Amino acid sequence: MTSKTSNKTQLIDNFGRQVTYLRMSATDRCDLRCVYCMSEDMQFVPRAQLLTLEEMIRIGTAAVDLGVNKIRITGGEPLTRKGIIKVFQALGKLEGLDDLTLTTNGTQLARFAQPLKDAGVTRINISLDTLRADRFKELTRNGKIEKTLAGIDAAIKADFDAIKLNTVILKNRNEDEILDLIRFVEERHIDISFIEEMPLGVISEHDREESYYSSDQIKADIRQQHTLKRSQDKTGGPSRYYQLNNGASRVGFISPHSHNFCDTCNRVRLTAEGRLLLCLGNEHSIDLRHIVRANPLDDAPLREALIASMDIKPKGHEFSLTEQPVIFRHMNATGG
Ligand code: SAM
Ligand code: SF4
Repeated sequence: MTSKTSNKTQLIDNFGRQVTYLRMSATDRCDLRCVYCMSEDMQFVPRAQLLTLEEMIRIGTAAVDLGVNKIRITGGEPLTRKGIIKVFQALGKLEGLDDLTLTTNGTQLARFAQPLKDAGVTRINISLDTLRADRFKELTRNGKIEKTLAGIDAAIKADFDAIKLNTVILKNRNEDEILDLIRFVEERHIDISFIEEMPLGVISEHDREESYYSSDQIKADIRQQHTLKRSQDKTGGPSRYYQLNNGASRVGFISPHSHNFCDTCNRVRLTAEGRLLLCLGNEHSIDLRHIVRANPLDDAPLREALIASMDIKPKGHEFSLTEQPVIFRHMNATGG
C-alpha cells in the first residue's frame, strides 16, 4: 500500500480513534444456516482463497505489535476450520494480548472447550436464540439444540473468565422467549447480549423491517419481572451492560439501529480471505492476503499496510431497515 516506512507504532485513525480490537474470521463456512445470517443457497469462498492458519497468526501477531490488545476469532463457525486450535495456541502466547476470545455457535464446544481454555482463551460468546428444539431447528435450518446446550455445559465446566450468550431477537419468532433466556443465564451465572438484527446481505425468509424488535422493547420486557441496573462494565465491544437482579449475570444490548456506536469504534475485521474491513457497515478494505503472500519472510510491509489502513477507516455507518441493504456481504462472510 505504501513504500515508505512509517514511524508510527499504533493504529490511530483520522478521527483520533485507536484500534485495539481485531476480529478475525477463521472461515465463512458453518454447520448451521441461521435465517438472519445466511441465505439458503450460500456460495462459500474456495478453500485455496482462505488465509492459511500461519497467515492468520502472522497478521494477528503484527496487529498485537501495533497495540491491538484484544482478538476475537469468529466466522462462519470458527471451530469447523481444520486445525484452528493452532491459531489460538499461537495467539495465546503473545505478550500484549490481554484478551483472546471466541464467538461460536457452540456445536463443537463439548470437544473444544478445554483445549481452548488451555490455549489461553479468556472469554467465549455462544450464540443461542431459543431454548426450544423445534424452533432451534427452524431458525438454524436444521440444527440440533442438544449440541449447543452440551457446548454451553462444557464451557461452564472449563471455567472461562466469562461466558456470554449472543441472542438475536426477531419479532414473531422468538421474542416470547426473552424471559426464559434470562432465567437460563441467571441459573448458570453467565451473561447474555441481545443483538438487534443487522441488514447484512440479502435474505429470503423474513422481512428485516417486520422482524425488528428493538433493544428498548427487550429491556422493557425484562423489567416486567427483573431489575436491570446500568453497569459501567466495558468489554471492548459495542454492548451496553446491565446488572441483572444485582446478581452474577449481566445483560448486554447491541443496538446498531437504536444506538449508533461508531464514535467509540475501536475495531477492525479480517475476513477469512484476508480482507481487512475497516467498518462493519461499509466496504472500505485492504487486501492483507496479497501483502503477506508477496512478502513471506518480511512482516514490515504488513505492519505498514495496517498503519496505512487507518487513513481509510470511515467515520461510521448508517444501517437502514427500510431500504435495500447497502452491504451485500452476509454476516458469516464479514466475521460477525
Ligand atoms: N458462528 C458463530 C456464531 O454463530 O456465534 C460466529 C459467527 S456469527 C456470524 C456471530 C454472531 O453474529 C452471532 O451471534 C449471530 O447471531 C450474529 N449475527 C449473524 N447475522 C446477523 C445479523 N444479520 N444481524 C445481527 N447479528 C447477526
Ligand atoms: Fe453459522 Fe453463526 Fe451465521 Fe448461525 S450466525 S449461520 S451459526 S455463522
